[in-house]
Amino acid sequence: MRSHRGWAECSKEAFNTGLDALARALKNWSDSRKGARKGRAVGFPRFKSRRRSTPTVRFTTGVMRIEADRRHVVLPRLGALRLHESARKLARRLEAGTARIMSATVRREGGRWFVSFTCEVERAVRAPARPGSMVGVDLGVKHLAVLSTGERVANPRHLVVAARRMRRLARAVSRCVTPDRRVRRVGSNRWARAQQELSRAHARVVGLRRDGLHQFTTRLTREHGTVVVEDLNVAGMLRNRRLARHVADASFAEVRRQLTYKSEWNGGRLVTAGRWCPSSKTCSGCGAVKTKLTLAERTYTCTACGLSLDRDLNAALNLAALAREVTDDRSGRESLNGRGADQKTRSRGQVAVKRLPGTARAGQAGTVPPQGGTTAQRSLLSTRR
Ligand SMILES: [Zn+2]
Repeated sequence: MRSHRGWAECSKEAFNTGLDALARALKNWSDSRKGARKGRAVGFPRFKSRRRSTPTVRFTTGVMRIEADRRHVVLPRLGALRLHESARKLARRLEAGTARIMSATVRREGGRWFVSFTCEVERAVRAPARPGSMVGVDLGVKHLAVLSTGERVANPRHLVVAARRMRRLARAVSRCVTPDRRVRRVGSNRWARAQQELSRAHARVVGLRRDGLHQFTTRLTREHGTVVVEDLNVAGMLRNRRLARHVADASFAEVRRQLTYKSEWNGGRLVTAGRWCPSSKTCSGCGAVKTKLTLAERTYTCTACGLSLDRDLNAALNLAALAREVTDDRSGRESLNGRGADQKTRSRGQVAVKRLPGTARAGQAGTVPPQGGTTAQRSLLSTRR
């Protein structure tokens, strides 16, 4: 048992972080019960063991800054910490006065320490490289995405590549003296080392995937004025593909999330096609709708006009066409019904409004609407310890 640390040694934020999380969990629970919260029902907060959770602490007060060398951050109690990456991007913003640090979160993940800053950022008003351009994006498993421009974005399948190595590491972990609280056995040092190597391997896969997704969504929103994606849980997700789709599901949601805020950052627009929109079943040439199209059919062949093209490209083209309809229909309601859609679809508030210069209030210009409720930009920097 390690010795207990005194109050004086710890930052008060260490305790506050836990209390704050508890307060928010309780609020979510009570809001959920009252029906004031969207989404799935939230349960009563459970005990959080320090053995199973990611160690994290959020600093909300005190001195938080980046040193002039841009290689060190200063945090309350912890003092100066050397960074693995340069913090120049954030430092430039801080110097120019376009960003203000609200809080800093320190977290240990995959054997590394990370510090992320929540900032209030004044963003410059930007416009996409081709404001009039519309691109349909068909997300998939075989390819990460097929665009209506005909481009296929490869799915790098990092997990599959790393699977062999991970299996080997996992075997090594299980062969060690593992901890077992029932018989009061602590894990061996070899176990701790093996465990760390395995979690590093997992963290690497996460990092690679995140990097790829960010590059993809940034490129898309910087270039095109309008990006069209399908809603999640699209009708095309069939039972027999459940597993494969399930794995990719998380990424689909992440792509959508990133496109939503990045299209606003870049002055573009994101349009979401309703989940009953038959983007796969519709012919992009003549608009005829097939009643049946199995996932095994990789090529779309139209029985009406004889058009034959890649299934995903066909879907992407339909999505792009949809955006054109929405735009032409601007004066009236924003109908997101695909041609021949027989189900009512609604705009789900995904259309990011282009912000014109001078329309934002002072101090709020071009800031980012949040996932959580405050204006925030997160910057991730890792420190080597
Ligand atoms: Zn056709």
